Amino acid sequence: MKTRQCFSCGAHEGMRHFEGRGETISVKGMERRVDDLSGWECQQCGEVEWDDDTDSAERYAEASDALIIAARQMIGAEMKRIRRKLHLTQKETVQLLSGGGHNAFSRYERGEILPPKALMLLMRLLDRYPHLLADAKALGEGADLRGAFKHTEHKEHETLTVS
Ligand SMILES: [Zn+2]
Repeated sequence: MKTRQCFSCGAHEGMRHFEGRGETISVKGMERRVDDLSGWECQQCGEVEWDDDTDSAERYAEASDALIIAARQMIGAEMKRIRRKLHLTQKETVQLLSGGGHNAFSRYERGEILPPKALMLLMRLLDRYPHLLADAKALGEGADLRGAFKHTEHKEHETLTVS
């Protein structure tokens, strides 16, 4: 059996060579299997290094990236379903729940970026308890200080000079 020192934890002969391995990667309950992987794995710390002369690293990274994109799209579809159930526009949802740019929510729904965890949690709570939307609107009005300040000019003491 081929062994060598682990570059990560330093265990002597810690890394053992493997080939023909199949691994299943899972993200948010979605899975992807990658077969015929080869590389080195440390028996002490679990560090894995793919073989450079194979496409193992490339195929493993591709499968991981595809899963992350699929997970973002799944969450995006969920955000869209809940927003529509609540009869809110994307703009109203941003104003009410998240703040930020007016097209932020459409980017979440398209799966381009992951919504903040607090926003996902709020949306899921409103999905489960939609009657709380009225409370959210009432509470939200008092929670946002932007636009809350008003100033009035008093011009009665100004003097006009005419030349
Ligand atoms: Zn190690």
